[in-house]
Amino acid sequence: MITGSYIELERAAVETNFKFLKDLYGDKVKISSVVKANAYGHGIEKYVPLVEEQGIDHFSVFSVEEAFLVNKVKKENTSIMIMGWISDDDLDWVISNKIEFFVFEFSRLLKAIEISKKTGISAKIHLELETGLNRTGLNQLELIKAAELIHKNKESLNVYGICTHLAGAESIANYHRIQKQLRKFNRLINIRIVSELKAKYKHSACSAASIAYPKSRMDLIRVGIMQFGFWSSKETYIQYLSRNKNNHNPLKRVISWKSYIMSIKKVKQGEFISYGTTYLAQEDKIIGIVPVGYSSGYKRSLSNQGRVLVSGQRVGVIGLVNMNMIIIDLSNLPDSKIGDEVVLIGRQGELSISVNSFTEISQQINYEVLASLPASIPRKII
Ligand SMILES: *Cc1c(COP(=O)(O)O)cnc(C)c1O
Repeated sequence: MITGSYIELERAAVETNFKFLKDLYGDKVKISSVVKANAYGHGIEKYVPLVEEQGIDHFSVFSVEEAFLVNKVKKENTSIMIMGWISDDDLDWVISNKIEFFVFEFSRLLKAIEISKKTGISAKIHLELETGLNRTGLNQLELIKAAELIHKNKESLNVYGICTHLAGAESIANYHRIQKQLRKFNRLINIRIVSELKAKYKHSACSAASIAYPKSRMDLIRVGIMQFGFWSSKETYIQYLSRNKNNHNPLKRVISWKSYIMSIKKVKQGEFISYGTTYLAQEDKIIGIVPVGYSSGYKRSLSNQGRVLVSGQRVGVIGLVNMNMIIIDLSNLPDSKIGDEVVLIGRQGELSISVNSFTEISQQINYEVLASLPASIPRKII
């Protein structure tokens, strides 16, 4: 079956990005590849093995469902860390499969001890500390209480890590808040009973923090967006460039998204195109219909704004983005044929459509564009 659109993942780009990250961080820091949200839309099942080819053996996900998908395709000795949602019912599966997980509620420790006693397998935990993001994480009192409980249950609870998450490292506006978080983190992990847990990995950095706050790198970096070839924000890129005198972007986009022309027709001057009255043909037009729409992640806010590539040229989306279709302007490409390739994200000939060009029009951030690519679009590796 040929689907209306497909996603390509470029192996060489994955290699470039991980080479860059490993050089940047040095070999004392472990890289955990963050593959939540279906690997930022890249597709967990295809993407994880590509990353393993680069020698990475640690993956972070948000939920049990995602851990399940990684677990299906990963190599035997590769580790998984769940940073977020696990129901009590699923904790048994998590512990039995030796999956690491964040602890941000005291009750999760009690449940973990119970399961560990039952199965005889110790739980691999990362204590997540609240340092100022005010999301998930143990406060000081909870941390001390947790440390006491862990000391009493050493055979059931194996403290792999102690960690926190920073509140927006991609924007310099958060500088003071983040410095305060890092100070608080360092104070908490040095409380005697906590440091005596001897956590193997202390970690706090996401992509942006690893660039903007090198001291946040610690023992492990949870790298999300950068591994896919994107900077967390323009600011993060500028921060990188200002410290590295060359003016070249070391990251390469891994993803491309492509479709086809499914129908072509002529429309007379004075006619409206697609639903409603948002687009009036000011002259005779040739239009192409493409089988992607907002149900496939092509945002409605790209109506009359989006750009795609056909025959190596940039052409506009006209009229409203429909649920399953967009209409593009082929008036300057009269030789177009049904079946011609349409590039929604990626390169064709000399030109390319970046994820950023999407975000500027649609008010999304690149994270959001990627994460909203449906899992049902097939992914292939090139
Ligand atoms: C998503 C996430 C990351 C990775 O963030 P990037 O900005 O994509 O690098 C790291 N840590 C946690 C807790 C996250 O939720």
